[in-house]
Amino acid sequence: MKRYDYIIAGGGLAGLSLAYYMNQSVLRNKQILILDRDEKNKNDRTWCFWETDRESPFDPIVFRKWPEVYFYGSGGFEKKLDLGNYAYKWIRGIDFYNFVKTDLAANPNITFLQTNVGRLTSTADGGFVITEAGQFIADYVFDSVTSLRLDNKKRENMLQHFKGWEISTPQPSFDPDVPIMMDYRIAQTGLGVRFSYVLPVDEKRAFVEYTVFSDKLLEPAEYDRELHTYIRDVLNIQDFEIHHEEFGVIPMTDELPETPRDSRVIRIGTSGGYVKASSGYAFKRTQWLTQELVSQILTTGEPSPPKATLHSWFKRLMDSTLLNVLLRERHSGEVIFTHLYKKNLTPKLLTFMDGKASFADELRIMSTVPLWAFTKGMVDTLIKRF
Ligand SMILES: Cc1cc2nc3c(=O)[nH]c(=O)nc-3n(C[C@H](O)[C@H](O)[C@H](O)COP(=O)(O)OP(=O)(O)OC[C@H]3O[C@@H](n4cnc5c(N)ncnc54)[C@H](O)[C@@H]3O)c2cc1C
Repeated sequence: MKRYDYIIAGGGLAGLSLAYYMNQSVLRNKQILILDRDEKNKNDRTWCFWETDRESPFDPIVFRKWPEVYFYGSGGFEKKLDLGNYAYKWIRGIDFYNFVKTDLAANPNITFLQTNVGRLTSTADGGFVITEAGQFIADYVFDSVTSLRLDNKKRENMLQHFKGWEISTPQPSFDPDVPIMMDYRIAQTGLGVRFSYVLPVDEKRAFVEYTVFSDKLLEPAEYDRELHTYIRDVLNIQDFEIHHEEFGVIPMTDELPETPRDSRVIRIGTSGGYVKASSGYAFKRTQWLTQELVSQILTTGEPSPPKATLHSWFKRLMDSTLLNVLLRERHSGEVIFTHLYKKNLTPKLLTFMDGKASFADELRIMSTVPLWAFTKGMVDTLIKRF
């Protein structure tokens, strides 16, 4: 059985990010195997995220970026939000895969194998992987292929599901300088909280997405119907052509994988709980967390899941509470998000959503949500858990 130093199971966002940061360090001299069943040669997702505009490794592949975004909320509230030190950035999946794969291809110590991963086990001798192409062992295996459990009754489990179309119009129809980050000018009928967003490519081309936070998916035709309605009635576009479509489901959950501290199989990415439970954003967090893993290996020789602190516990409790409020429909999601954007400075809110705000700022921001609904949600979350 072939032995490696590290095996990365799943070469998507988390797996490739981890390999990329390893390749920028002395870990590039280790034998690394990356397993994925897919070729990763399609533009299968649109990544949007905010970051302060300092130098970032993926700057060369940022497709579009903006210093301002529009927000359309409940009660006619609408505002062009100044992001301050942040920029809202768009990276296309295919550009990310190609960029990282090109970087890794120059290193003969990194091997890609296209195969289906079956089983991953932690043994005294290392992480053991069974694939359709054979069995492998490594000092550590990084697992982004095992699904998170989403049926734990003690946890808050929701889905963010969405469909998007890249469309073009014969006439100028979009503001290329300002994307719409959240648009609640759509019917909130049926399941969950619903909003749309628009990422302009230029005046005549944009990516338009319809998103729902709920515990069940919609019928496929409903996403199409709602996208048509939004484009026709809200964006006032009657004539358009669809060039590309995207459908996705992201778990919004406070579930965390239980990894024993001496485990040789370390969960990363969605599988490792990297997705921010209350927003579904994962791109930037994946960069932070995979960079942190690499520094841990460099300093201690071992990767280990991040240590829980009282503050990290409180942040997770706030995420769980928002999920509880939305799932139990304790208050309208549209109103909650409108309050958050209306009553807080956007850069402060983005820092808060990144989980990087000070405790004082967290309390200040939490005081702008409907307090009674959130108190009930928090109590319910805690009772369920203990
Ligand atoms: C369509 C879409 C759009 C998104 N947009 C955003 C966004 O705008 N901003 C944001 O922050 N987050 C976004 N997300 C959420 C998150 O950033 C992505 O889901 C991200 O890809 C998660 O990274 P990951 O490595 O956990 O999973 P993935 O990137 O999906 O990687 C997992 C890899 O494992 C492989 N794999 C799975 N099972 C097996 C198996 N059994 N054997 C072998 N290989 C296997 C898959 O082929 C895949 O390449 C989006 C998600 C989706 C689905």
